[in-house]
Amino acid sequence: MTRDSRYDILFEPVKIGPVTARNRFYQAPHCNGMGRTFPSSMAAMRGVKAEGGWAVVSTEQIDIHPTSDITPSTEGRLWSDKDIPYLARMCDAVHEHGALASIEPVHNGKWAANLYSREVPLFPTHMPASDANYPLQARAMNKADIRAFRRWHLDAVMRAKKAGFDIICCYAGHNLSLAGMFMMNRYNFRSDEYGGSLENRVRLFREIIEDTKNAVGDSMGVAVRFSVDELRGAEGLEADKEGREIVEMLAELPDLWDVNISEWHNDSQTSRFAAEGYQEPFIDFVKQVTSKPVVAVGRYTTPDRMVSIIEKGIVDMIGAARPSIADPFLPKKIEEGRIDDIRECIGCNICVAWDNMKAPMRCTQNPTNGEEWRRGWHPDRISKRTDDGAVLVVGAGPAGLEAALAAGQRGHDVILAEATDELGGRVSRESRLPGLATWARVRDYRAYQISQMANVVVYLSSALSVEQILEHGSAHVAIATGARWRSDGYGRQHQFPIAGIAGSNLFTPDDIMSGNRPGGNVLVYDDDHYYMGSVMAEQLVADGCRVTLATPHAVVASWTNYTLEQHRIQARLLELGVEVIASHALQEINTLDVTLACVYSGQPRLVDASSVVMVTSRLPEDAAYQELAADKQRLSDSGIVTLKQIGDCHGPATIAAAVYEGHRFARELGEEVSEIPYRRELTELADAFKLP
Ligand code: ADP
Ligand code: SF4
Repeated sequence: MTRDSRYDILFEPVKIGPVTARNRFYQAPHCNGMGRTFPSSMAAMRGVKAEGGWAVVSTEQIDIHPTSDITPSTEGRLWSDKDIPYLARMCDAVHEHGALASIEPVHNGKWAANLYSREVPLFPTHMPASDANYPLQARAMNKADIRAFRRWHLDAVMRAKKAGFDIICCYAGHNLSLAGMFMMNRYNFRSDEYGGSLENRVRLFREIIEDTKNAVGDSMGVAVRFSVDELRGAEGLEADKEGREIVEMLAELPDLWDVNISEWHNDSQTSRFAAEGYQEPFIDFVKQVTSKPVVAVGRYTTPDRMVSIIEKGIVDMIGAARPSIADPFLPKKIEEGRIDDIRECIGCNICVAWDNMKAPMRCTQNPTNGEEWRRGWHPDRISKRTDDGAVLVVGAGPAGLEAALAAGQRGHDVILAEATDELGGRVSRESRLPGLATWARVRDYRAYQISQMANVVVYLSSALSVEQILEHGSAHVAIATGARWRSDGYGRQHQFPIAGIAGSNLFTPDDIMSGNRPGGNVLVYDDDHYYMGSVMAEQLVADGCRVTLATPHAVVASWTNYTLEQHRIQARLLELGVEVIASHALQEINTLDVTLACVYSGQPRLVDASSVVMVTSRLPEDAAYQELAADKQRLSDSGIVTLKQIGDCHGPATIAAAVYEGHRFARELGEEVSEIPYRRELTELADAFKLP
């Protein structure tokens, strides 16, 4: 296939000071939960992006000194020369595929609680430290501290140069960087030359950039990453006020401007709350005030939109974190005219959540993410089959679709049987709920790929019985029959039946999604704590119900703190007029009302609701699997060599987990798989530790 000439502009080189990016694709710095703790995984993940065509591949934030220790987060670190080798490894992986490696040295100021180093946090002013309400404060930096900070930053720059980086990114974004914090009126109450006027507040950042430029000369590009607006009105930087003035003040100093909105929850908004290009109204002034190249993110996955923002003069380079995670080969696919093969990010922030949970990131769309080094899984290649066995996949939700696709790519003959008349399972059902339409990409990408493969045959409206599965004669069988929501209230809070529940007017998310919906006053009971309870409430409001949402937790959808959505979800429900009752558990369901109880005091509270939607937990639809697995003789008589349950039918979880299980099933077909099927970073170093 050849590239559409409309997209030629995306493949023009861009000069970043003394270095040149081969095209306009810029993988912006992004956390990944691997960092220094899983350095081989991190390096391989970055290398794959360079292979996939990104011209610039950046690190995550790299903390530069023991006073910027953000333990237990697992980002990068560059405190001494001893930290150089793992970063050099990343540079090698990136250079191997012709891309530029960029690094983002950071001092996190008061956000660094220094749990490992035990240093006192630093800040422009005395202030409570960390965002976790730890009982500690940051101290105001004196002049010697400021001089020391400049030296630490410079030391990190020189070490980065030694490691082999091509670009240094000076950071004042996301409310995460000390130099940025000095700019903020709400933080900086200093009376010296680093406080007061905007020029004084920007002084430290200017010094950092100048120090860096002087030190690296013509050997590296110097980028600036700056958040032009914080979406907090006059309390923070605003794109039409100080945000703009700062860009004007420093306009020609760096070699590239990487601009965005702050904080992370604004920069990485989910598709539930923001569409592709959502940052444009804030950053579109930047190119008017600087002659240097400008890059911005905004979950860009469509080449037409990318071309349009370059032609409109909004940016010179397309920044991407999540789209590069969902499809590391996005640039290559555009370059090769494989537009329909792009695995578009769905904007779910599962990747972000895993980083926030201090674990290696996972991606809903890209099951190979994080597995590049430890299992050798590649996002655009898969090994050929090792046997001729045909594959039967039962159920076409995300698990079944991915299993069928990956097994087909390996060269197996595959039959995908789906009970209903549409592909996608829960993804199709859920994507029809308010705000979740983009999630259908999980289905659409796979359905299209499968439709192009002669060796994968799909049967809709084909609910297979155990006998039919046995008669089918396939060597490899994946049961991907999903899960159903429980209506009995059993969840995290309730491990016993709830009084009055039998015969009451109960609904589950499955009812709502299949059109069986209550009217009037409805209580949504959320003991699941992810998105579903809040989405049910939104749907019922749209249906005209008066909705109360009760949860035993202190806030609505508490787990979505990890996906950076909690605040927006709670705000949306309140805007919609949903009454939110936090810290209350279901106690009793009556005909015309429901009794809740405070989870602390037990104090009862009556809610006027004639129906309850239970969002508590799910049960696997695994009856077929259990029956098949129980009779090994019957299995072998039918020629079944492999029988696996995958996805929600194995263990109800995220869509990302279902896609991963489907992929894993296909990858492992006919392969020798040990009980720990991947390399581990520390045990790989056993030789160095001279274990007996
Ligand atoms: P997962 O997230 O694990 O992929 P889903 O619930 O999204 O699970 O999808 C399961 C799919 O399996 C649904 O589309 C459902 O209609 C289908 N299914 C369930 N039982 C059968 C069966 N016996 N034969 C074929 N398809 C089935
Ligand atoms: Fe996009 Fe979701 Fe993958 Fe993150 S996890 S890259 S948001 S699809």
